[in-house]
This record gives sequence, structure tokens and C-alpha cells, in this order.
Amino acid sequence: MQKYILGVDIGTGSVKAVAVGLGGEAMDSSQVHYPQMQPEPGYAEQGPELIWQGFLDCIHEIVERLGQPPQAISLSSAMHSLILVDDQGKTLTNMINWADIRSAAIAERLRFSPEGKKLYEQTGTPLYSMSPLSKIIWFRENRKDLFNQTAKFISIKELIWFRLFGKFQVDHSIASATGLFDILNFSWSKEALKLAGIDAEKLSEPVSTSYIRQDAKADVAKLMGIKEALYWVIGANDGCLANLGSGANQTDAAALTIGTSGAVRMASNKPLYNFKAMTFNYILDEHTYICGGAINNGGLILNWLLENFMLKEAVKPADYLQLFDTVKTVPAGSKGLLFMPYLTGERTPLWDSNSCGVFFGIKTEHKQVDFLKAALEGVCYAIQTVLDAVVQSAGKIEEIRVSGGFTASPVWLQLMADVTGKKLTVVQAEDASAIGAAYLAVQTERFEGFGLKDNDQHKQIIEPDLKRHLVYSKYYRLFVKLYEDLKDPMHQLAHLNSEQQ
Ligand code: ADP
Repeated sequence: MQKYILGVDIGTGSVKAVAVGLGGEAMDSSQVHYPQMQPEPGYAEQGPELIWQGFLDCIHEIVERLGQPPQAISLSSAMHSLILVDDQGKTLTNMINWADIRSAAIAERLRFSPEGKKLYEQTGTPLYSMSPLSKIIWFRENRKDLFNQTAKFISIKELIWFRLFGKFQVDHSIASATGLFDILNFSWSKEALKLAGIDAEKLSEPVSTSYIRQDAKADVAKLMGIKEALYWVIGANDGCLANLGSGANQTDAAALTIGTSGAVRMASNKPLYNFKAMTFNYILDEHTYICGGAINNGGLILNWLLENFMLKEAVKPADYLQLFDTVKTVPAGSKGLLFMPYLTGERTPLWDSNSCGVFFGIKTEHKQVDFLKAALEGVCYAIQTVLDAVVQSAGKIEEIRVSGGFTASPVWLQLMADVTGKKLTVVQAEDASAIGAAYLAVQTERFEGFGLKDNDQHKQIIEPDLKRHLVYSKYYRLFVKLYEDLKDPMHQLAHLNSEQQ
């Protein structure tokens, strides 16, 4: 039986484990889904126990199927999550994820404060409600009881690491997306800690992304079908690892991921700032920053369409195929129908939690299918606004390496190529962040015989159709202008709506 390294990605909608063989190829994978909850408007929470169980089950499934444990397990996880725990690691709250906007007003206050610019430069994290910094301040100002009881403010990966090893540790990559970490000095930022009203003791010990432990608790390892000690690599965040997993960790290619949300990222040996669009700079390793921007409304738009337009109660994989099959015949531009996809507000480049979704240009000739296509085009336009921001700080982008759930649809990939006018490359069918986590383990050179896959031999290329791109460039200009014109009415509407609640 071939040796393997297991990359595990703790995502927003599911946890995925990918077994990577000696040549860097994906040998097997498993996935366990879990739900998101909205206990109040603007809240986005998930149950840590469901995620923990999913993590254990996902690993167990692979270990059992492959009949032997991996050489190492390396971890990836979604960024910006926050869980309050006591000194025994007992959770005092649900996991609050990146989509939660309860701290929007606090983030805005920080953004426009005198220290805002320096904080963005020092921490690499845009000042927005997703960042644990503004979430911690929210707890201090709104739930003093919980804030006072908290021994540690941690992310989902730190909770999992604590359950494995009994230690509060965080990799530099997850730390660099908290808004509390000094990305140039690789330590917690004194200024950010002061704003949060906590000291460094309330956070985990930062360690390198290639940090390895071998002393997982035996009873916990047994739950995953693992009886002997093996290496655990702490790994990095899912965005940075998607760049590594899709071969976009050199400076000439960008990575584009669309899962529940979406992002465009480029690697650089120094932070790249864009003060207007507030692009991020997260740490992959001691020499590499991953710079880019994220949109809120990626694949979640698809689920919204399926549930509310196509009336699917529990979305199944076949439903996605049906949707894409239906929209294939609609011409570029959806017969003059434009969609702004800001159903959950928007991050880069708008940073506007009060922005909302809009269908613009509705006429009697528009059918359901045109609305579906327009909505997908709207997600691609939103990605284009991030590409523009990244180009401003990073320079020209020649090639885009794509990953995430959307790569399962050739129709959506073609649409993205046509809107952006760029050549897209799919290098991995499997989860790029999980693969990236495994590659990070390989790069430590601790595991004999393992090498990285030659991505160029396995790639699938999607060329843009230049005629359609021309059509889309015209609609895109209108899309950008629409937000400028509708920003005020959007805010007034959000205000009216909040008065009714
Ligand atoms: P996350 O890491 O955020 O959990 P994934 O990368 O697994 O997300 O992507 C999940 C998203 O992928 C779903 O929200 C859905 O919109 C999209 N998706 C899933 N299956 C398909 C498909 N067959 N075609 C296109 N998109 C899909």
C-alpha cells in the first residue's frame, strides 16, 4: 500500500480530507457537511461539536478505506472564526464565522479611526466585521459576562488543535487573518490587543505554519482509527493553502477560489497594500505573503437560487447540474438583466455590510432562466472588481488558477473566463486547500520519498471567448456604476429595515 499524507481542510460548509500520494497526486478523499445557523439577523454561527465530529469522521473514513494511517496529517481551515472558551477549553459560544456582521459598526469605527490605516498595514487584515478583532470588541461591549469568563479567544482550528494536544497554539497564517497579528514581526500586535482590551495571554501561542507535533492524545487519535503516533502539521489558512495547492504560490499567477464565498489571491515576498480597496496580506510561510481580496457572495448565491427560485428543499449535487444546464442557452448579458450579488453585504472592494442584492433591468420578456444566468454573471462581475483591486497593487495577472466548488461546473468556469477575459487553469479537481496542506507537509522535507505533483501535466485550460468578453466588459462598467449610484438608497433601505425589527 502506497504511503500518503492527509491534508484536511475545515471549510465553511464542510470538512474535506484528501490523501496525497508520493508523487503529490490525490489518491482518495472524503467530505462531511455541516450547517450554518442564523440565530439573529446578521449573525452567522456554526456548532463546534458538529465540525469536530465531521473532522473525526472525515479522517476516520480515509484511514479505514486506505487500510493504514497517513505519514502525517496537515491542517487547513477557513479564516476569521471566533470561539470563546474557558481555561479547560470548554466552549462558551458557538463558532462565529466570517459571514457574521454583528460587529459591522465597530469595524467601521476602527476603519475611520486615526489608527485605522496603521492597523491595516500592521495586521494585514482589512478592518471589517469578519475579523476576530472587531468580534472580540463586540463581546466586550455587548456581552461583558461572556467576555469576562473567557480564558482564550480562539478559532475553530485552535479548538481542534487543543483537543488533539491540550495546547493553545495558532499558526502564523490563521493568526495573520485575525486583525490582531503583526505580520511583519510575526507576533501579536500590541496596538490591536489594546483596542481589543485583552492581553496576549488571552490568545494562543503563535507558531510557524510548518510546526509539527507528534503527541496527539491516544484516545482522541483512536476516534479517527489511528493507533500509532504520527506527525501533525499545524498548516495554514485555507486561502493561502489554495494558492499552494493550485500552484499559484509563485508571483506570476493568481489563484481564484469560489466556494461558499470567493477570493482572488497572489503570492508576494512582501505585503502589497491597496488602501482604497483594502486588500489583505496573509502569511503562508516566513517568506511568502498571500495578497488579495475576498467576496462574500460566491457559491452561496447558487444555493439561494436553487432554494428560492427553483424551490429545492435540500440542495443535492444533481441540482447544480440542472441549474447550469438550464442557463446554458441564455446569451451573454442575460438580455439586459444585471444582478448585484450583495445578499450578505460585500467585502473587497466595497466593505459595505449594508449593500444588498439587486436585479436591474427587469422586462416582461425575462424568464426565470434569465434571472438565474444574470445572478451567476453578477458573481463573476464581483470577482472582476477584486481582480481589478489586486492588479492595482500586484501588477499584471497573466493566468488564473481556479479552485473551489465552482470548478465542478464547466459552464460556470467558461462564464468566469468570458467575464474576466483571462485564461483559467484548473490544476486539481480535489480541494486545493486540503491538497495545499499536504504540500506544506511535503515541503518540510520530513517525509521521505514524497514530492510535489508536476501541475503542468495535469491541467485543464479554459480560454475566454473574446466576443462574449467584449459584451461582458460593457455590462461590467455598468455593474460598477450601479453600486456607486445605489449605495445611498441601499443604506437607507437597510436603515428602514432595521427600524422595523
Ligand atoms: P467551502 O469551502 O466554502 O465549504 P466549497 O469549495 O466546497 O466551499 O464549495 C461549495 C460551493 O460550491 C457550493 O456553495 C456550491 O455553490 C458550489 N458547487 C457545489 N457543487 C457544484 C457543482 N456541481 N457545480 C457548480 N458549483 C457547485
